[in-house]
Amino acid sequence: MEYFADLHVHIGQSCGRPVKVAASRQLTLDAIIKTCVDVKGLNIVGVVDCASPSVLSEIKEKIHSGELEELPKGGLSYRGRLTLILGAEIETAEGKGVAHSVAYFPHFKQMEEFSNLLQKYITNIYLSSQRASLKARELLHIVKNLGGKLVPAHVFTPFKSFYGSCYDRISSAFGDQFDDVATVELGLSADSDLADRIKELSVKKFITNSDAHSLDNIGREYNKIKLDNPDFESLFEAIGGKSSNSKILANYGLDPRLGKYHRTFCLSCNYVADAEPPVLSCPRCSGEKIVVGVLDRITSIADYKESLHPQERPPYYYNIPLKFIPGIGRRTSERLIKAFGSEINVLHQVPLEDLESEVGTAVAEKIIAARTGALKLKAGGGGIYGKIIS
Ligand SMILES: [Zn+2]
Ligand SMILES: [Zn+2]
Repeated sequence: MEYFADLHVHIGQSCGRPVKVAASRQLTLDAIIKTCVDVKGLNIVGVVDCASPSVLSEIKEKIHSGELEELPKGGLSYRGRLTLILGAEIETAEGKGVAHSVAYFPHFKQMEEFSNLLQKYITNIYLSSQRASLKARELLHIVKNLGGKLVPAHVFTPFKSFYGSCYDRISSAFGDQFDDVATVELGLSADSDLADRIKELSVKKFITNSDAHSLDNIGREYNKIKLDNPDFESLFEAIGGKSSNSKILANYGLDPRLGKYHRTFCLSCNYVADAEPPVLSCPRCSGEKIVVGVLDRITSIADYKESLHPQERPPYYYNIPLKFIPGIGRRTSERLIKAFGSEINVLHQVPLEDLESEVGTAVAEKIIAARTGALKLKAGGGGIYGKIIS
């Protein structure tokens, strides 16, 4: 069977307490489940704030009430319609900066144990994505010993990522343990073409996740995965790339130009670079206070001038969510999702004629243009998303 999975979604509040401070308060566990099932069309969701005791107790309650059911091979099933994967995003200090990784665990008990252990290294365990007084390698060791998997998150973003702020090579963080790193998450401003310019990544499958801080953004990046069963074990078999029954069939992600950090941005004159990469100082004011773009960073550390895909690299399809497409407001969006079942369907499956009969030719053609990459884009940078110009 084929499944759609977004493995990086944040919780804004749980049991009346804030969890991920920067995330919307509407991101409750209930709302995430409802949005995945009723709006986005996702089958597997990774919630990455589960080390927080508030989230743990909310999940425990749902297990007791039968709303969530622990699967024998890991993951929690919501009424057979959605699998919840328990994750925790953690910050470690590395090299010159800090980096985020997500630890995933198959069962509730392991996540609870991880949370207890982590309290030794984190000041406020109730909040998500907190700095742990651990190196990534130590974190990997802890996660592995508890039966979990570790995935470096949004690996190229200029703040809080392995390539973006710490090292030229991610293997510097893990040494000979790099084999045990389950995969890497590409982040919104990169795609497999860009990532496959770095040789050491050729041995990893890539995953593409939304890192949603609001309900709307769930599923803006996701993976299409072939699995025997939608559970933790099959999922990580697919991610590990060593099974023929389970595998990642495709990555769906934003056109990297739409990401917030694709190009270098000058903090003195607010200029988003458009010159040939790498741009490493501001060409307009020669300012040195810049946020290096993902494209610029990858270009400056790449092994290859052009991407060199390993043979089994799945295709990467651009996914332009409805809210990015000019002329599609909330009402039209809701109407389309109601008519065709999910945003994933609307964006990638429904034929032009059917879209047309629901919302008219102009809107339908824009959706098809988004699907086929025919829209004109302006790259983002410095925390400002890219835009569709026409
Ligand atoms: Zn992060
Ligand atoms: Zn995150």
